Amino acid sequence: MSIQSTNPATNKVVKTFEEMSETAVDQSIAKSVETFASWKKTAYSKRAELLHNVAGLLRKKKKELAELITLEMGKLVAQAEGEIKLSAEIFDYYANHAEAFLADKILNPVHGQALVRHSPIGVLLGVQPWNFPFYQVARFAAPNIMVGNTILIKHASIVPQCAIAIEEIFTEAGAPIGLYTNLLISGKRASVLVADKRIKGVSLTGSEAAGASIATEAGKHLKKSVLELGGSDAFIVLDDADIDKAVEWAVVGRINNNGECCIASKRFIVVESIADEFFEKFKNKLAGLVIGNPMEAGTQLGPLSSEEAAVKIADQVKRAEAGGAKIILGGKRMEQPGAYMEATFITNMLPDNPVYYEEFFGPVAVLFKVKNEQEAIDLANDSPFGLGGSVFTKDIERGIRVADQIDTGMVFINHPTWTQADLPFGGTKGSGYGRELSELGMYEFVNKKLIRISELSDPF
Ligand code: NAP
Repeated sequence: MSIQSTNPATNKVVKTFEEMSETAVDQSIAKSVETFASWKKTAYSKRAELLHNVAGLLRKKKKELAELITLEMGKLVAQAEGEIKLSAEIFDYYANHAEAFLADKILNPVHGQALVRHSPIGVLLGVQPWNFPFYQVARFAAPNIMVGNTILIKHASIVPQCAIAIEEIFTEAGAPIGLYTNLLISGKRASVLVADKRIKGVSLTGSEAAGASIATEAGKHLKKSVLELGGSDAFIVLDDADIDKAVEWAVVGRINNNGECCIASKRFIVVESIADEFFEKFKNKLAGLVIGNPMEAGTQLGPLSSEEAAVKIADQVKRAEAGGAKIILGGKRMEQPGAYMEATFITNMLPDNPVYYEEFFGPVAVLFKVKNEQEAIDLANDSPFGLGGSVFTKDIERGIRVADQIDTGMVFINHPTWTQADLPFGGTKGSGYGRELSELGMYEFVNKKLIRISELSDPF
């Protein structure tokens, strides 16, 4: 089967690749196993040197790589440059901190002496999504390469050129063959690979369906897995919030990455005393967005990542309307070539609407008016997802109290859910399990090995 690189701004195919054969995949796994034998013994300083080289190359090639991202998945080119910068920061962060994070932990047991040593486990498979083609790979590859594991990446089929560019950067940075390998294969084949005895762990970022498929295989074959899945983050605005600031962040939270973010603000839950003012200002801002070519500097909202994604979200909006929701703004595809969708504003979304519990992966804001703080919390928690969320209030103590009651992996006060190299990232409930980034993200694919020492004369 062939894999196509398509520009979503025009829906024109720009390049076609052949999928890797079974033999080529088998050889890649074998090489990764071979390289693990030496990489696990390589000094931290050498591993760090490689990651600093990768970070340096990302910075050097920022412009061309950003344009490649925009070409393949439609992100605004300035945001794509931001993604490359963040990815470089992640590689540097692990290069700088991994050795300290992975140092022996000396225990203080009742009997004898003991320590926990952090050892690599072997070849890992990372299944990655298209929405942040470099950042997603960075947050999986950087910690695991520092741990001493070796990496096979199955990237999303719509970003083959980005996937190849990342592998080339590793090669140019001096990575031994087999340390980081791009597998140009379909999603289904990635799930089948989990059964391979040579692969010791798997991490997937993507949809619940793909996550369930990977987790089923991982469970069947007793492999460690990490899943970073979808989200439907609540953006709660309390009565004491700075409304204008909240509106500004609401726009960013919803349309950053053309709305295709797992941690995008998707459900806007506003206390009724300020709801009308907030909704009016938010709607006006969305209505004024400049929609167009993501390569152009003045554009504020680009196309979705693919024609398929645009068809899917337009259909979701139609189903929402049929189920009783009201479309206050937008709601349709743009009448122009490319995977464009209007910025859309929906109200009257009730629990009996068939799309109430679905994730809107595009520029569609769903608005809810609630009586008070408690109703806001209850509504935020009425979701199968548990990724992130935000609370807007001038009272930080109150914000922390509300954050504490929201069932998600991350809550941001006075900011949409976000990410940075030194903060843990991940969800709960239907958003998956495990963490990436920060010290926590380092320990997912590590054998925390107990070493206990007894003197020969010690009784146990
Ligand atoms: P997707 O269809 O699940 O694709 C993600 C990756 O999984 C791709 O590499 C895909 O390969 C692969 N895949 C698809 N079906 C598979 C299967 N049965 N077994 C193994 N791998 C499979 O997701 P998407 O539509 O690209 O991404 C959007 C979703 O990802 C949203 O729900 C979003 O919220 C979530 N996401 C979550 C995070 C997070 O950190 N929590 C971050 C970003 C995105 P192909 O491309 O070849 O199909």
